[in-house]
Amino acid sequence: MLENIIFERYDAATSLTEQSLRLLHQQQQTWPQLIDGYAAFADVRQRNIACDGFSIILQFNPKRIVSSGAKIDAATIKERKCFLSIENLPPEQRGILYRNHFLVLCNPAPIVNQHFTLSHIEHVPQAIEAYIGTMLLLAQDFSPSFTVFYNGPRCGASAPDHMHFQAAPARVIPVEVDAVSAERRVPERTVEGVAILTLKNYGRQAILLECDDAARLESVFHRLMSSMKAEERTTEEPKVNVLCTYTDGLWRIILFPRAKHRPDAYFKEGDEQILLSPASIDIGGLAVTPLERDFIRVDAPTIEQIFTEVSLTRAEVERIIAAV
Ligand SMILES: [Zn+2]
Repeated sequence: MLENIIFERYDAATSLTEQSLRLLHQQQQTWPQLIDGYAAFADVRQRNIACDGFSIILQFNPKRIVSSGAKIDAATIKERKCFLSIENLPPEQRGILYRNHFLVLCNPAPIVNQHFTLSHIEHVPQAIEAYIGTMLLLAQDFSPSFTVFYNGPRCGASAPDHMHFQAAPARVIPVEVDAVSAERRVPERTVEGVAILTLKNYGRQAILLECDDAARLESVFHRLMSSMKAEERTTEEPKVNVLCTYTDGLWRIILFPRAKHRPDAYFKEGDEQILLSPASIDIGGLAVTPLERDFIRVDAPTIEQIFTEVSLTRAEVERIIAAV
């Protein structure tokens, strides 16, 4: 069945970016749902919101109602057909077979103008630690054009039961630019040759890991996750959103440690409800709402409140970094 889906196999000589863009072009001619999704994306509206110390882009994207409004409780997930499993992909969908265990697929409800889902060929649970090595490879193979990102199973993944990453054009998500701003970067520690930094005056906590050596970076990433588990007092994966870039020989992991996935305002009724369900892109500074009502009324204090509420505190992050 996999054979019928493969558009091309990843070929290092060609570049993953070139192959992925060729796939997108093919799907834009042949897959009605994707054609419709990209037509709708052409009409999204965006505006900047200047918050205290940082700014974000708010995007009004009606197609995202499926994701922003999605029920993600265990019972719902168990009953639905997994939309990333090969046997359930639409007949027109094709993918690039990447290193024999992932597929590069086009996302039919794009938030960015080239939006890919990088899905495991098997139905295995969403889990970053088992696949951090793959994430680093993907970031390298997609560089310098794309950034790879991940939403934890308890933190924005719409398929928490099926391992997947996503890719967006580099530097479209504001945190990628903010993470290289000298005024914002705070060096915290160096562990096994990996620089650990945070970002100041940012309205939410971010932890950066930077290194030119993949094995060291993986090792320190695992230590960071262990430290987060201890802080959260859980054996499950901590609530995280993770972005990864590779530029000029350097990997940069940007991790958002989260207190909760959806803010209280998400669960209010009627007029008081705000349909913002922050995952990597949103907490990274490109916040998506599927409702025009929220696009018009969401202001700086609302964003500041939501970011504060869903993020760990500075004190918690200090303890986590000290314990790495
Ligand atoms: Zn699946």
